[in-house]
Amino acid sequence: MKTRVAIVGGSIAGLTLAALLDPDRFDVTLHEERPERREAGSALGLWPAAWRVLDAVGAGDRARAFAAEPTSGALRDGTGRPLIAARDLPMTLVLRPDLIDLLEAVVPDSVRRVDERVDDPVDLPADLVVGADGVRSAVRRSAFGEHLRPRLTPWLALRGILPGPPPENGEYWGRGDLAGVVEAPRDSTYWFTTHVSTLGSLPGSAGGDPWRRSVEVDVGEALAEARRVFGGRPDRAAAVQDVLARATPESVLAQRIYETPRMHRLVHGRAVLIGDSAHAMTPNLGRGACEAMIDAHVLAGELSRRPLTSALARYEARRLPPARVLPPVSRALMRLALSEALQPTRDRALAGVGRLVPA
Ligand SMILES: Cc1cc2nc3c(=O)[nH]c(=O)nc-3n(C[C@H](O)[C@H](O)[C@H](O)COP(=O)(O)OP(=O)(O)OC[C@H]3O[C@@H](n4cnc5c(N)ncnc54)[C@H](O)[C@@H]3O)c2cc1C
Repeated sequence: MKTRVAIVGGSIAGLTLAALLDPDRFDVTLHEERPERREAGSALGLWPAAWRVLDAVGAGDRARAFAAEPTSGALRDGTGRPLIAARDLPMTLVLRPDLIDLLEAVVPDSVRRVDERVDDPVDLPADLVVGADGVRSAVRRSAFGEHLRPRLTPWLALRGILPGPPPENGEYWGRGDLAGVVEAPRDSTYWFTTHVSTLGSLPGSAGGDPWRRSVEVDVGEALAEARRVFGGRPDRAAAVQDVLARATPESVLAQRIYETPRMHRLVHGRAVLIGDSAHAMTPNLGRGACEAMIDAHVLAGELSRRPLTSALARYEARRLPPARVLPPVSRALMRLALSEALQPTRDRALAGVGRLVPA
């Protein structure tokens, strides 16, 4: 008898798992409420561990053909002055729609697709229910508890892709704001900004009901606000002002950043969490999608080697530590990057490190 697996969420975590489960042993159903959604305008930096997973699913070589390797860059202050130079970073950039398409292509035909929202995952007819449904996970809510609601952070993220490569790669840590401008695939530029904002959070509440889809952010308003924040002074980095001037609301993704609360378990009964449902974090480490793929890889490996209950126990033992450690580290980095009070000291310290450490 095959093990029946219901995967809720068909994005990076869910597709990776569906691609890795052996069709001879697992009867897989993939539930995705918005199969058409590809998040144009965004790119993902992937670390070597994620590339090993892409190789394991058979998508590595094709993904490399679609990737850009920003070979050098620098961490800069808000004016653009380099603090720490970086060369040969082991991170590679792919466009998110490309990654989704590549993963879709390696999911076996035997995987049943249900293009609908799952509201009651506990009722799904399956031996294993996998929550690959992101930070607002219905699986986390129904199987692990209502109290584990997504946490709204004070930060608003904007990102987009523009034609033509940038003059130089850099991440800019300002005084209360952060930006990045990086070479992306197909001779394009990926840019991102983060600043404290109230856009997209309902007045008088912490963003309304956090289990519902986040409050829509008006992209035009968000772009105008970012232009004010990053262009307010003449000494601000020209590269950031340039991408914000060229961006149009149609080409920009603006979203508030939410986090998953700290989890004590990733398995409850026949439910298991992978990806952002287990550990959505601020984007500062560039690790969310990487960890989602690693979760899927580890879970598929354990399920192929052991009976269900011991496979889930092994999965939890291996993946709970990073799920607990990475989000607070990422948040601490965000606070440091956006710190106003620490900014002069921080920049002096980083410049000192930059002088001491070879690029
Ligand atoms: C600004 C920003 C920049 C980032 N940059 C990077 C980066 O450079 N590198 C990196 O590794 N990560 C990055 N990330 C993180 C990365 O985007 C996420 O970690 C990743 O998308 C998580 O994948 P996932 O499959 O777990 O969840 P998601 O991508 O959130 O997918 C969840 C899926 O589940 C579906 N779904 C939800 N609920 C239901 C339901 N009830 N029924 C059916 N379907 C449902 C959704 O439609 C969605 O398709 C960034 C994130 C942000 C916000």
